[in-house]
Amino acid sequence: MERTIRGIPASPGIVVGQVHLLRWEVPDVRHRIIPDEQVPGEIERLHAAIARAKERLRHLRQRVESTAGAEEAAIFDVQMSILDDRELTRGIEELIRQNLGAEKAFDLVMLEWRTRFARASAAMLRERVGDLTDVHIRVLSLLMGLPDHDPVDLPPGSQAVLVTHDLTPSLTVQLDRGSITAIATDAGTRTSHVAILARSLGLPAVVGLRNATTQLSGGERVVLDGGTGMLAINPTDAEIDAYRERQREEEIAEAALAELAAVEAITVDGVRVTLRANVDIPEEAEAAAKSGAEGVGLMRTEFLVVGRASMPDEDEQYRAYRRVVEAFAGKPVVIRTFDIGGDKLPAGGFPSEPNPFLGWRAIRMCLDQPEMFRCQLRALLRAAVHGDLRIMLPLIVTLDEVLAARQQLDVAAAELKERGVAFRIDVPLGVMIETPAAAVAGDTLTRDVDFFSIGTNDLVQYTLAVDRGNANLAPRFTPLHPAVLRLIKRTVEVAELGEIDVAVCGEMASQPLMAFALLGLGVRQMSVAPRSVPLVKRIVRSVTEAHAKLAASAALRARTADEARHELARRLADAIGDSRFLYDGLPGVD
Ligand code: PEP
Ligand code: MG
Repeated sequence: MERTIRGIPASPGIVVGQVHLLRWEVPDVRHRIIPDEQVPGEIERLHAAIARAKERLRHLRQRVESTAGAEEAAIFDVQMSILDDRELTRGIEELIRQNLGAEKAFDLVMLEWRTRFARASAAMLRERVGDLTDVHIRVLSLLMGLPDHDPVDLPPGSQAVLVTHDLTPSLTVQLDRGSITAIATDAGTRTSHVAILARSLGLPAVVGLRNATTQLSGGERVVLDGGTGMLAINPTDAEIDAYRERQREEEIAEAALAELAAVEAITVDGVRVTLRANVDIPEEAEAAAKSGAEGVGLMRTEFLVVGRASMPDEDEQYRAYRRVVEAFAGKPVVIRTFDIGGDKLPAGGFPSEPNPFLGWRAIRMCLDQPEMFRCQLRALLRAAVHGDLRIMLPLIVTLDEVLAARQQLDVAAAELKERGVAFRIDVPLGVMIETPAAAVAGDTLTRDVDFFSIGTNDLVQYTLAVDRGNANLAPRFTPLHPAVLRLIKRTVEVAELGEIDVAVCGEMASQPLMAFALLGLGVRQMSVAPRSVPLVKRIVRSVTEAHAKLAASAALRARTADEARHELARRLADAIGDSRFLYDGLPGVD
């Protein structure tokens, strides 16, 4: 067995803990024919497994309700009701009576149901596919005597490192922060949403380990280093001591950076940069405000939905948005409308699509479901009364989408007016520039929007045709590719011409070398993970604008991402004299 597995750094922090292996996938089932006399026994076994699964779900429901809340716990009600469905159990019994073993009978019926629901025209039914899958795995595991791995089912204070193939939304809500200290996944990349969520939760994480789940059997002692993307298996005591020492050094370095919270992000030659925070869950707002961020450049509201069985209502959303706006006391807070789809899905999953990242997601889904969209817009307009809230639309491709969204915003305002509820009418409306279409044709949008925010995670994905969540493609996900740099430059120029603000809120801005490049490309507003605010501030304060411009010009002239990286790295090292910061989280740099 390899002693060290290397993956992709997703969320920093060094943790020593024990592996909790979670295999949450439908097991392979053998075709087993049973004689007639075993039929009643098999039916009984089926019902016993279903009863145990329900008991387990009730238990989980209670746990999740007390840790995450009633809304999150509602998924388990849905799953219990699936198991209560007489049509389902009758179908399985029927197959057992035709001499099929209980596992196979259950497996076949569940497969049929999942396919049927996935193809249903009603969204409500399609949303249940994820629940059916969870039930499928749970009951089969019980029928086959496999260990029932529930991520929450750990003694409190376990210090477990959760190792799993991929973290689905319904698994995410079950995470018990009291017993799980770090996450390691086979799948995923730095910009996949598991990584983004781990950073928000402050949980050290390594993703893209490819085969960690097959290399480990559970219970091993490991060191996980989320900053370098490494998982060391069964380290010696001396090695653990060395990691603990590194952990202390990191904490000291971070504390030193934290002292920058109160100072301005201003270059040596006096150019002011606005640094804001990306906030993914409202609970993060207060801590993010302390990082020195001058507001929120991106709040990903879909995390209010991911992993839940139902959409949050207007009041719940209003409270969440208001909390963030108030935490930033009068500073700008950019809240993005639901960017659901791709890898950010509600608990029940969504219609399974052949190409979810090119599918029915984000603004497309919102415009097709105006009731749901307006519910969010009303909550936003109401929360805007409490501070400088701005609304941002994701995945814009055409001007028509902006105009249609504006129309919905007007209707939402009229609805609130009629209800006599307090709201603000003049809320700025901006768009994400995260598709090549929007970046190339940004000039078609400037007249009708108040600001641009460049989402480099998706812009890189769509420009380079590289799935942002695919670990096998991670080295090909290169934000410094000439095409991406040119699109960013063009977007900045178009925004200037159109006299609107432009920011960058993708992961690119959180990485020192890239932040330097963005500064040189003329970006004066960046929104980064709260933890990265001091680091990026340090970069800004160490360089001159002139220096950054020269570096960016050299990067733009480069013919490859590697060449661009070397040009930037050389010049940044000259300016800051500390090479440690250059390579933070940059895949492919040694
Ligand atoms: C982006 O695409 O760069 C972005 C900031 O949005 P998300 O990561 O949520 O897709
Ligand atoms: Mg995006």
